Amino acid sequence: MNSPESKVTNASLFDRACELIPGGVNSPVRAFRSVGGGTPYFVESGKGAFVVDVEGRKYLDYVQSYGASIHGHAHDDVVEAIISAARKGSTFGAPTPNEVVLAQLLIDRVPGCEMIRLCSSGTEATMSALRVARGFTGRNKIVKFDGCYHGHSDGLLAGAGSGLASLSLPDSAGVSPSSIADTMVFEYNTVPTLDESVAAVIVEPVAANMNLVLPVAGFLEGLRAECDRVGALLIFDEVITGFRVGFGGASKHFGVTPDLWCFGKVIGGGLPIGAFGGRGEVMSKLAPIGPVYQAGTLSGNPVATAAGIAALSLLDESSYLMLAGRSKALGEGLSKVFSDVGVNVVVSVFESLLGLFFLDTAPRNYSESKVSGDSGLYSIFFREMLRRGVAFAPGAYEVIFPSLAHSWDDIEWTVDIASAAAGEVA
Ligand code: PLP
Repeated sequence: MNSPESKVTNASLFDRACELIPGGVNSPVRAFRSVGGGTPYFVESGKGAFVVDVEGRKYLDYVQSYGASIHGHAHDDVVEAIISAARKGSTFGAPTPNEVVLAQLLIDRVPGCEMIRLCSSGTEATMSALRVARGFTGRNKIVKFDGCYHGHSDGLLAGAGSGLASLSLPDSAGVSPSSIADTMVFEYNTVPTLDESVAAVIVEPVAANMNLVLPVAGFLEGLRAECDRVGALLIFDEVITGFRVGFGGASKHFGVTPDLWCFGKVIGGGLPIGAFGGRGEVMSKLAPIGPVYQAGTLSGNPVATAAGIAALSLLDESSYLMLAGRSKALGEGLSKVFSDVGVNVVVSVFESLLGLFFLDTAPRNYSESKVSGDSGLYSIFFREMLRRGVAFAPGAYEVIFPSLAHSWDDIEWTVDIASAAAGEVA
């Protein structure tokens, strides 16, 4: 342990953290293991597009809390909302007005979503959406897609992409076979044939946990039709895409309406939150008006809802145009720097999500994405960028998240830095 006078460094903090916290981190990807190990930077503070570590090093940040911080870090309006809510008390265990305001904001923006229940994480949202789908249909089976991540509840830790893929964990130890016995895993972008035992199909409408894999034409529509054919519910996990890929999320963008939605990240303005919602008929199965139990001490937390309201209120159609324009420019810039050094790279861009693949063509599913992830090239690129002051996520299956705080200059600078870093990959 450091003496009070000794200087706090990333290494000293990480050493200490490793003694106190498994792997030194509270979420595995942060430990840098999937990019070859080493010492992660410990963030002291963040403002806008940048974070500063405990050693005073500044990074242009494209992690942005894995998409939660759409306005960048510590946006003044969001901070003010948090402070004034916290002054009034941070949790009561009784309903508060902001819960109604946030529910209304979500419902107004997502066509077809009639009722919302707030919870505290994306994991809770997906877990609860599945429970209500089972309660509504009276069926047990659920369908998910290989490489889609829906949080870490037992029944969804099968073929779960992202953090598990980075660590080469096919699934998790500690998940009993019985808890995944009702989970069927299919290949993304192929519409499976269902039967009447299926309660729900859960899908990331744009898959952002196997790096970035876009839905092929007809995939989401096909899922909708197949669910309708057998009476199963369709659940869009929009924890990443919700309020990021457009004002009404992915369902509005693609014109495919699921029965249930899951949200998180952006809707909490950087504080812990989750939400699930959908057709009134389905959501009415929830306690206290229906038989499906779901609850939470901190659900609808007044500080998190205040932050979420502030964050969502700052977004309009022009925000998304701006984000998409800068993301497109970043994607084009990154493609060019790799082609200049003769490395085959595909940069997939969907609104403000970017995926970087060391491949000739954009992958359509997890097996194809894995070829890039397994190449080890991302780790080299990641390290070379970080060394030069640009922080991408420490994992080949994560996506790049530009925020509204990333200026044109920041994008240009990223491309300049990338042209040096790409040379090291070649
Ligand atoms: N669903 C998706 C698509 C996600 O990307 C995540 C987290 O990254 C989750 C669910 C789980 O959310 P949380 O980490 O808030 O539990």
